[in-house]
Amino acid sequence: MHIWRDIRGTLQPFWVTLRNMFRKPVTQLYPEEKPQLSPRYRARLILTRDPDGNERCVACHLCSAACPVDCISMQATEAEDGRRYAAWFRINFTRCIFCGLCTEACPTLAIQVTGDFELAGRDPLKLVYEKEDLLVDHCGQNNEYNFYRQAGIGVAAPRGKNPQESDPVDHKDLLP
Ligand code: SF4
Ligand code: SF4
Repeated sequence: MHIWRDIRGTLQPFWVTLRNMFRKPVTQLYPEEKPQLSPRYRARLILTRDPDGNERCVACHLCSAACPVDCISMQATEAEDGRRYAAWFRINFTRCIFCGLCTEACPTLAIQVTGDFELAGRDPLKLVYEKEDLLVDHCGQNNEYNFYRQAGIGVAAPRGKNPQESDPVDHKDLLP
């Protein structure tokens, strides 16, 4: 009986090989062939601008607090009109795990994920992105939202009285 089992065991791999020779390959010839990514794919992070072209980031540190691997750092500063922004902003992509928690924490929609996953390189220092590498000239996934129009700046002028500001939201109005 063993002889049949051995013959079967010898022939079976040939049969598997023969069968798969005529199948369409499932592998992709990356990088020549680009993969089809899901619309929610999370890769390289960017810092976006509001619809007026100003930086959205107000350097509140919420993204760095939410980051589980502690790879975001920044220094907050303030413009003459009281508007906060990051003097410098840094993401160390050698540590980033692309979890997207920073984007969930961001109140201004400044930090957003993109589908750009091609970040590999030989020099780890080149994966430390500074603000100029992160800041883009568009609004990213949301073209409407402007944090300061909602919250007001409120240092040089009362909240809601600066140019292009709406009246700030009164939280008591939101209560039942
Ligand atoms: S995607 Fe996750 S790991 Fe990367 S910077 Fe944001 S919170 Fe940190
Ligand atoms: S990116 Fe968003 S969460 Fe991070 S500091 Fe700027 S405004 Fe705050």
